[in-house]
Amino acid sequence: MKKLISLATLAAATLAATGTLAADFPVKDKPITIVVPFAAGGPTDRVARDLAEALRKPLGGATVVVDNAAGAGSSIGTNKVAKASPDGHTLLLAHIAMATMPSLLRNMPFKVETDFEYLGMVNDVPMTLIGRPSLSATNYKELTAWINQNKGKINLGNAGVGSASHLCGLLLQNAWQVDMTTVPYKGTAPAMTDLIGGQIDLMCDQTTNTTSQIEGKKVKAYGVTTLKRLTTPALKDLPTLDESGLKNFQVTIWHGLYAPKGTPADVQARINTALIAALKDPEFIKKQEGLGAVVVTDKRLEPAEHKKFVAAEIARWSPVIKAAGVYAD
Ligand code: ASP
Repeated sequence: MKKLISLATLAAATLAATGTLAADFPVKDKPITIVVPFAAGGPTDRVARDLAEALRKPLGGATVVVDNAAGAGSSIGTNKVAKASPDGHTLLLAHIAMATMPSLLRNMPFKVETDFEYLGMVNDVPMTLIGRPSLSATNYKELTAWINQNKGKINLGNAGVGSASHLCGLLLQNAWQVDMTTVPYKGTAPAMTDLIGGQIDLMCDQTTNTTSQIEGKKVKAYGVTTLKRLTTPALKDLPTLDESGLKNFQVTIWHGLYAPKGTPADVQARINTALIAALKDPEFIKKQEGLGAVVVTDKRLEPAEHKKFVAAEIARWSPVIKAAGVYAD
């Protein structure tokens, strides 16, 4: 009897703190929302939608939906999750911006280190440098000549300060020693529309968004941001930027899953177990590989290891960003 009372008290305390009973997670008929801090149809959104589908079964048939809370280089959606009820029903699929925002944004309304529970990592995704279809340059060498002839007139699209495309564009401008006009969007899906339409000239974006456009010859492709060429059929002939002359140019984007701080430990464990199962789903792996992404199978699947990895990424990118002298309020 005594034990029953203490369990009930514990359950009531959990309910008061989180609005849900950890043992009942996911709450029947209550959807789990994955917040994507970028526009629908873009690379982060694409990963989230595939993941939502793969998570359904390991989460006992729960409805998993995606909510695009885009803007401000992902800080709007990330903040939304930081302030959400910590009951496991609101999650964040974020990317490398978790590690670059702290250096790129001067006023962040949340702390990536302390306002989230880390649930595990999802994938690693290379980027590609692409251009509008009407650009005369057909390869990287011709592109650099075109850049030198058009200094001061070039527009570079990105998904806002703190985004992966912003980071990559920054590194490229540094490497080329050329300043370009950056055009921010709520994600690289709308930026891609403008690139194809010729409103902007260049963009650096994840292969999860660019593979089909490169394959369909809707954009010009100038290089991949890994040190080794990719094996994805549609991208295997695309030279690396490193081999084209940008020595050691390497940017790999990763995605992780997060919950608001205070999400009960057993709910976190339940989601991590479901995540690990989802990442073994052959359908999910096939879709990701077809888009040039590599699904995580190493220790970064464990929340503590993923957190260590993000801390190392913060330390890695901070001096690079500081040296470039860019930030936003
Ligand atoms: N690719 C975008 C970025 O540059 C994000 C997105 O639209 O998913 O960070």
